[in-house]
Amino acid sequence: MDISFTRYRIYRECPWKYKLLFVDGRKIPMTPKSSFGLSLHRALEAWLESGEFTLESLLSALRSRWLTSGYEDDAAESRWYEKGVRALTRFHGEEESRRARTVAVEKEFVWTSGAHQARGMIDRIDQGPDGAYELIDYKTGPGAPTEEQVAKDIQMRFYALGAKRGLGLEPATLTVDCVVAGERVSVPYDGAGEEALDADIRAAASGIEAAAFSPDTRYCPRCDFRKDCPYSVAK
Ligand code: SF4
Repeated sequence: MDISFTRYRIYRECPWKYKLLFVDGRKIPMTPKSSFGLSLHRALEAWLESGEFTLESLLSALRSRWLTSGYEDDAAESRWYEKGVRALTRFHGEEESRRARTVAVEKEFVWTSGAHQARGMIDRIDQGPDGAYELIDYKTGPGAPTEEQVAKDIQMRFYALGAKRGLGLEPATLTVDCVVAGERVSVPYDGAGEEALDADIRAAASGIEAAAFSPDTRYCPRCDFRKDCPYSVAK
C-alpha cells in the first residue's frame, strides 16, 4: 500500500470518508477557500522555482497560476484575487529580510514503513546560515496556529519523519507560514513519538488494504459528505 499524507489524514478522520473519496471516486467541489489556497500554493511554488525573486515575478506567478473555479461569480473571484495580491505583496516584503536559503520546493519524500510506503510533499525546505534545516508549510487561512499546535501538528510531524527517513535530512525547525495572516510560527523539532506515528501510518495502510471502512462519526460536523452520507450524524 502506498499511503500519502492526505490519504492517511482522511482515513484517520473517517474510514468511510476515505472510501467515498478514494474507492468510490466522489469529488469535493472547489470552494472559494480551497481554490484560493491552491492558487497561492501554485504561485509560490512557481515563483521559488523561477529563481527570479522580484515582487513582479511573484505577482505574475499568481496571475498565471490562478484557478478560476469555486467562486460564485466574477466579482467574488476578483475580491479573492485582490486578497491574494495583498497577501503575496506583504509576504514578499518579509521574504527580503530572511537569511535562509531555499534548498527545495514541493519536495516529495517516500519511505518504507513495514510492508507499505509512506509519501508526501513538503512545500519548502530552507537551510539557515548554520546549516540547520527548516521545513515550511504554507497556510492560507485567516488565522495562525499557536506554537504548541505547530509542535503537535500531525502533518508537520509526518513531514519531519518523511524528511528524515525519505530524504536523509535532519529537520531542526518546523514552520507554518501563514501567508494571508502574515505570521510565521516556528518551533524546534523533537523526534518524540516518531515510532508511534510510523506504526499508526502502517496500521492505517493495513486498514485500507483490508477495506476496513467503518464510519467514524466524530468527524461528521466538518465533513463535506455530511448532507448525504447515510451514517452522518450532522445532516
Ligand atoms: S458524514 Fe460522517 S460518517 Fe459520513 S463520511 Fe463524513 S465523517 Fe464519515
